[in-house]
Amino acid sequence: MKFLITGGAGFIGSCFVRYLINNTSHQVLNIDKLSYASDINSVNSVSDSKRYKFIKDDICNFSNLKKIFLEYQPDYVVHLAAESHVDRSINGPLEFIQTNVIGTFNLLEASRLYLKEQSKDKKNLFRFHHVSTDEVYGSLGEVGYFIETTPYDPSSPYSATKASSDHLVRAWHRTFNIPISLSNCSNNYGPFQSTDKLIPLTIKNALLGKKIPIYGDGSQIRDWLHVEDHVNAIYKIIIKPMVGETFNIGGNNERTNLDIVNSICNVLDSIKPNSNNKSYKELISFVSDRPGHDLRYAIDSSKIQKELDWKPMIEFEIGLRKTIEWYLKEID
Ligand code: NAD
Repeated sequence: MKFLITGGAGFIGSCFVRYLINNTSHQVLNIDKLSYASDINSVNSVSDSKRYKFIKDDICNFSNLKKIFLEYQPDYVVHLAAESHVDRSINGPLEFIQTNVIGTFNLLEASRLYLKEQSKDKKNLFRFHHVSTDEVYGSLGEVGYFIETTPYDPSSPYSATKASSDHLVRAWHRTFNIPISLSNCSNNYGPFQSTDKLIPLTIKNALLGKKIPIYGDGSQIRDWLHVEDHVNAIYKIIIKPMVGETFNIGGNNERTNLDIVNSICNVLDSIKPNSNNKSYKELISFVSDRPGHDLRYAIDSSKIQKELDWKPMIEFEIGLRKTIEWYLKEID
């Protein structure tokens, strides 16, 4: 099969590209504009494969997208390209509207025009899988979980643009019959994440002896899932005939932001103690809370567990330790 991946030089996209080349015989075309958040080295381990091709391009460039679809003739489109950092969306939302909303619209339109020219068989096989976030559901109180039918209630410009793109994807299915599927996942962690996200930022700042910022009192709760578990779930959704379906993906692993930072400091204290013999926790600095900061996200992933026999395989403490060891090697 021919996969067209957008955002394949980003954190999750590159993991998906590596997964496809290492574990399947599919072909992969990776389209990424190589923004600040990307790391093209994240696909170095597979870039020599004859089944892998990279095009540096922007999904906002519709005429190029149309050409790429016609030339490559994808069977599956897996859409991961996005502006993904909530703080950046507060400081400059326009780029989020452009990539997350207009970029998704462009991909849907390119798919629609491409499918018009295809045989019935090819059309039936085709899938547009949209990778989205649990943040579209807004904030939970102390109890409860997001399910696939939880009403959308996004708080940040980032989550509002992701919610918009989810709606567009469903509308192109209902109106134009584009075979789509969606997944809404909780916070991912693992190698190759941009260093402005919580886990890599904490590790980087700790090693540099810089303050480790925590919003408010750090009591916000997120569910954490290893990126390889996420990618495995996406693959399961695509290869099964799950057209029009949405799946929530989560690690069943809720932690406060303060817990996450403390856990990282504990691991660093044991494997790379500070030269002044003080705990890295002394670098923690509480800063003014992010506006519109959601209190809690938690995912009920029983649908994907039951229907696709997926479950997270990487235990959080082990995954976190390995991730920290990976960043230590990278930063050295
Ligand atoms: P990322 O920021 O690490 O990577 C995004 C990639 O998209 C980058 O390589 C960037 O260069 C590329 N890109 C951005 N704008 C583009 C454009 N206009 N044209 C082409 N390429 C462009 O993001 P990520 O963490 O890998 O997230 C991937 C997807 O998964 C996003 O849609 C995000 O909303 C979603 N998601 C992320 C998480 C998470 O915890 N990271 C959780 C749930 C869902």
